[in-house]
This record gives sequence, C-alpha cells and structure tokens, in this order.
Amino acid sequence: MKYSIFGICAAIVMVCMSIGVMALDSESESNRYHQHLESRQPDAGCDCDGTELCTHLPLVLIETQEVIPGLPIRDETGAEVGYTTTSAGEEMLRARISVISDESTNHHPSDEPDLESEIMIRVRGNSSRYFDKSSYLVRLIEEDGTYRSEEMMGMAPHYEWAMHGPYLDKSLIRNYMWYNITAEFMDYAPNVRFCEVILNGEYQGLYVMTETITNGEDCRVDISEPVENTTITGYVLRQDRGSHAEIRNITTFTNYSYRNLQKINIQYPRTGSLTPELVEAIEQDFSDFEKSLYSYDYDTSDYGYQHDIDVQSFIDYFLINEFTVNYDAGWLSTYLYKDIGGKYRMVIWDFNSSCDNYSHTLMDPQHFETQYCTWYYMLMKDERFIERMIERYQELRQTYLSDEYLNQYIDDIVAYLGDAIDRNFEVWGYTFDDYMISPDERNPNSHEEAIQQIKDFIAERGAWMDENIEILKQYGHESKNKKFNH
Ligand SMILES: [Zn+2]
Repeated sequence: MKYSIFGICAAIVMVCMSIGVMALDSESESNRYHQHLESRQPDAGCDCDGTELCTHLPLVLIETQEVIPGLPIRDETGAEVGYTTTSAGEEMLRARISVISDESTNHHPSDEPDLESEIMIRVRGNSSRYFDKSSYLVRLIEEDGTYRSEEMMGMAPHYEWAMHGPYLDKSLIRNYMWYNITAEFMDYAPNVRFCEVILNGEYQGLYVMTETITNGEDCRVDISEPVENTTITGYVLRQDRGSHAEIRNITTFTNYSYRNLQKINIQYPRTGSLTPELVEAIEQDFSDFEKSLYSYDYDTSDYGYQHDIDVQSFIDYFLINEFTVNYDAGWLSTYLYKDIGGKYRMVIWDFNSSCDNYSHTLMDPQHFETQYCTWYYMLMKDERFIERMIERYQELRQTYLSDEYLNQYIDDIVAYLGDAIDRNFEVWGYTFDDYMISPDERNPNSHEEAIQQIKDFIAERGAWMDENIEILKQYGHESKNKKFNH
C-alpha cells in the first residue's frame, strides 16, 4: 500500500513537472516579447553596398549641440560633489533622437527613421556614471517641451526611457536576460530591446533600451494617477541613495528606527505633480505599513503583512535576486509600488553586478543574504512565508530557472547579437585589459569567457540552492522568534 501511494505521488509529480515544461514550450503562454527569438536575425541579409553601418538590430541616432550633462564632479579629495550641467545650468539637455527599427530590413544611419523626436537627455546611474561608456535617461518631448509618449522598438508608448550601455557587464546580456526571464513569472519587469547607438556621428556600441519603473497607460507598473485635489494616488518608491529633487525624499518608519540607513524617495508621482500634502500622505502610508510589519502583529490574520503586501511578489523578488546573487537588491536600486487601495509589489532593477560580477569582492555563491534586508527581516520570521518561498523555488527550477532553460536562453541571445558583439568591442574592447573587478582573476578576457562565466555561475549557484534552500527555515523557526510569535 505504502508503495502504491508513493507511486501515485510520483506520477502526480511527473504530471506537474511536464505541465511546467509544456508551459515553456508554448509561445502563447509567454508574457513577454523576447526580441532575440522573435525579431530580425543577423543572417536576414541586406543588399546595401556596405559603405555605412549595416545592422539587424534597431539603430538609435542622437544629435546634441553640447556635451550631455550628468557626469560626476569630484573635489580635490576625490569625493563626488555633484554632476555636470548644461551650459545653461540645466540638469537635462535638449537634443534629438532618431530610431530606425523597421523589422522588414536591416538598418543604416541614412535610413528613414521610424521615430524622430526632440528629447531631454542626461547621463544616468550611480557608479556607472564614472564609466567611459555612459548610460542615459531620455525623455521624448514635443516642440513646446511637453512630454510625448511614443512606441519604442515595439515597446508600449511612453515618454521616458533608460538607455543602458553594458560596460562592467562584459557579457552584455545580464539586464536583458534577467528582466525578460523575470517578466515571465512576476507581474512586471522592465521591458527591454537591444540596439546600437550613434552619438553625434560616432558609433557607441551596444545598448539596451529599457523601460523606467513608473506608470503608463496600460503599461509599466499598474497604478493610478493622483486623484485631483486629494492625497489619493498610486505610487512608486525607490530605496537607494535619495533623489536630487529634495521634495521626493521621504523619511519612513524604518529610517527613524535605524532599521534602514538607505534613503527612500518617491519615483512616481513625478516631481511636477507632487504637493507637500501628497508627499506627507505617501510617507505616512508607507510608514504605517512598516510600523505594522515591525509590530508583534506582523503575521496575524487580522493585522499581518499579508494585508499590505503581495506575498508572491516579495517571494519572487527574493528568489531572483538570491539566485543571481544580486546583493544590492533589497538595499539599493530597490523599487516597490502600490495602487490606490492595493498591496505593495516589488520590481527588479539592475543586474550588472549579478552572477559574480560585483566589482569589489567575490559574492560568495554559498550563502543567503536578502533575509537581512529591511522588510525581509520581518517577513522571514514567518514559517509560512519561508515554506511558500521554498515551494516556489522548486517550481521555478523546473521552468524559468532550470539550467537547461537558462543555458539555451544565453546561447540564443549570443546567436542573435551576432556581429554586433564584435562592433561593440571594437570600441570598448580595451576594457578587457583594464581590470575593473578584483581580484584580477575574476575578470573575463573575452566575450566568450564572460558568457561562460555566467553559465558556470548559474550551474554552481543552482546546485547549491537546490541542496540548501531548506536552511532558510532557520529564520522562521520558533526558537528564534519566540517573542514575536503567539
Ligand atoms: Zn545593409
């Protein structure tokens, strides 16, 4: 009898596994347009005369009248004291963008653009502002300066875009791959397209056009605009180093209690719509959540965290950042949002340092870290939260986080990028000699090595997590949390 029950269980497990695999085989199940699988391929061919750049990737041309602002300024001690501005003292520069992305042909700088617009542009990022290859924030505008929402390379219309230029990430694929894969199982992850960029006639290499984390009409995070003459609004928060626009910075409960030494700022509503009353209401709303999370009622059915957060979203955020050992997550570049009357959900951002690419030290792939982050510190006290996390991990390892899926995904991206990889490193290849990661032996010496390094990392990390995911139970065990649990 015992054996027949075992047999039935095994059969159920097999069926569940095959459903998981089937879901991945069926394109109709996908939440995402994967550019590398579905758009113009490098072997599509072209009958041009080869006298100018010819690429199967979308092409972005930017024309400016002066140097793009936003580069760091340092004092004589080397400390960062601010960012460069335009000659008129502005944070953003008015410029022009042309995007050539028609799928029916290859793309050349002289082609008729599919999108032409005035833009406001500045350099974006934190540590990446020091890199030779800049990343940019771009806002499309009308002649009169008002925002202009347009479709970008097939992505839903919006006026604001981040142009990320992979530099520290020699594989070039980290953000593209983890954003796309995460979008398959979380409500939202920024949409992305590879492209090549020419700035004032000069080729800049490979970029990733990326949605910023804000709201849009039926796109990006699903939240409502501020309701006029009230303090009712959906909102997006970022935990990082704070905003340069002082009105956006808020101080919430965990900061007062020294649980969190990072700064939290309002990402949405945007500065122009923020009133002091609205800022105060958001600050209070988030503080109320944090206060209840840090109370003895944190897990009760009447007042507990499940009323305030989308539990699945917090679990998935934890798992994807742990799987990739992306340990800024939870402290820096950490985004969450809430709609009017809704629950908090997390949004992933920035995988440049993930998969053993953190510049200063090796991030040990044989431990967990996110449980110490501000909000997870309390969530992890609940055994049910941890049990659900372990179940979800095992499910994802059969699907989007399986070695087979990930290795194939990587190979497919590399095949898609084709000779765009060589063009990128014709400009930036010198950085293979300029070791940016310590110790030196962690630096890949070629794109092939950079790709292999990610694959090796995934194999090692996945095997370790498979063996050790259960150790997360220690954080929710009664013996550790007696005073919290009734
Ligand atoms: Zn051509």
